[in-house]
Amino acid sequence: MADYDFDVLVIGAGPGGYVAAIRAAQLGLKTGCVESRETLGGTCLNVGCIPSKAMLHASEFYDHAANGMMAKMGIKVTPELDLDTMHGQRKDAVKQLTGGIEFLFKKNKVEWLKGHAAFTAADTVQVGDRSVRAKNIVIATGSSVVPLPGVEIDQKVVVDSTGALELPKVPGQMVVIGGGVIGLELGSVWRRLGAKVTVVEFLDQILPGFDGEVRKESNKILKKQGIEFKLSTKVTGVTVKDGKATLTLEPAAGGTAETIEADTVLVSIGRKPNTAGLALDRAGLATNQRGQIEIDHDFRTSVPGIWAVGDVVPGPMLAHKAEDEGIAVAENIAGQHGIVNHDVIPSVVYTWPEIAGVGLTEEAAKERGEVKVGKFPMLANSRAKTNHEPDGFVKVITDAKTDRVLGVWCIASVAGTMIAQAAQAMEFGATSEDIAYTCHAHPTHSEAIKEAAMAVTGKPIHI
Ligand SMILES: Cc1cc2nc3c(=O)[nH]c(=O)nc-3n(C[C@H](O)[C@H](O)[C@H](O)COP(=O)(O)OP(=O)(O)OC[C@H]3O[C@@H](n4cnc5c(N)ncnc54)[C@H](O)[C@@H]3O)c2cc1C
Repeated sequence: MADYDFDVLVIGAGPGGYVAAIRAAQLGLKTGCVESRETLGGTCLNVGCIPSKAMLHASEFYDHAANGMMAKMGIKVTPELDLDTMHGQRKDAVKQLTGGIEFLFKKNKVEWLKGHAAFTAADTVQVGDRSVRAKNIVIATGSSVVPLPGVEIDQKVVVDSTGALELPKVPGQMVVIGGGVIGLELGSVWRRLGAKVTVVEFLDQILPGFDGEVRKESNKILKKQGIEFKLSTKVTGVTVKDGKATLTLEPAAGGTAETIEADTVLVSIGRKPNTAGLALDRAGLATNQRGQIEIDHDFRTSVPGIWAVGDVVPGPMLAHKAEDEGIAVAENIAGQHGIVNHDVIPSVVYTWPEIAGVGLTEEAAKERGEVKVGKFPMLANSRAKTNHEPDGFVKVITDAKTDRVLGVWCIASVAGTMIAQAAQAMEFGATSEDIAYTCHAHPTHSEAIKEAAMAVTGKPIHI
């Protein structure tokens, strides 16, 4: 140790990096974490999960007041939007949570090295004018927005997700390029607050990677809420003049172009791993074709002593996946057995209702063999019905021979919370019968998971 500054040096303090650093310190390793942002917490806490959920939560209240949900329950209100206060509570949530990570670093004696890190050798990193040598280096540099070629993001008229969180006024017309999770969430925020929102998606359906039936039903529900969709359509140009954008759209398969105007254009076509500026070559590392750092089952890169986790490595770009990898990599560095089961990583879209899934889609499961599927509509769930939340369903997909649960998908107001039980059941190798015979509290939305599990063998009670 004598000539090393740290046992573990983590680059990046997002959910992958800060969690890895805290766990490494908890395991008695001398740990530092380099972060170039002014605050800790990475994309997730600063410009991702947390601020988007602050805006989604607040705008949901506004929508319930403005669009008759509250009136249905006997509460007559005419809401007045105070966007500055709404943004204020978003900033406050970010400030408190990023400050919380700083507190945890101090509590666990993780040293925060402020600045940008670049390798000078496989075990050495330059941060400002400091050269830091570490026995183990964990790359957790995350990801950033993929730009649309030829479209300049000015964060005024054409924004990325960061700009879309901070719009100073509600746009009249907003066009969202990309019908993935981030586009649908942020499109929902501004639709709820009064914008006319059009989502343009190149594929023939929104939410790539989700179960086919869930994709179709989500599309239907969001359309009913007033979001317009242009599927199988590509954006071939965006010009901005006098504070307004004109977009040129073409059918994905080719054909006649059309133009639409927008006050705000959100470019949300994906994210790419952050490796530029790391000087990976000086460490003897390279990226794969997708720009990611390849790792083995234990999060080791091809260079001994260098590890990587989170959005910068292959797999879904999700905060909880990054966090679990952060814990596992620290445990592996400490000589323990850190494992992440990448087959059981839940995905959630925080629209209203929420959309969530874990494990295989029905399409993917069928490719592997014979399956059984049980479905239960939220309309028949007593709590959802009482709460005026009729949209959505739960679907449980099992192996036809063993009854083992292969995937669970939900559209429900609290699907993001419900999916945790499905993930836990799958982690324990549950069958649909295990879920069906587990006592669920009544009345809860989660009973729909039990009933969908009962439906696998054709025996739900309430439909
Ligand atoms: C709008 C939006 C909403 C999202 N919502 C959700 C959600 O609800 N749920 C969910 O699971 N995921 C969500 N995500 C995705 C989630 O934010 C990421 O998956 C997660 O942050 C990845 O964590 P990470 O630690 O790998 O990287 P990041 O959080 O990106 O952190 C990496 C950090 O490394 C720093 N860094 C990079 N290079 C260097 C360097 N060379 N030197 C020093 N520091 C460096 C960066 O400044 C950054 O702070 C959302 C993302 C966005 C954009």
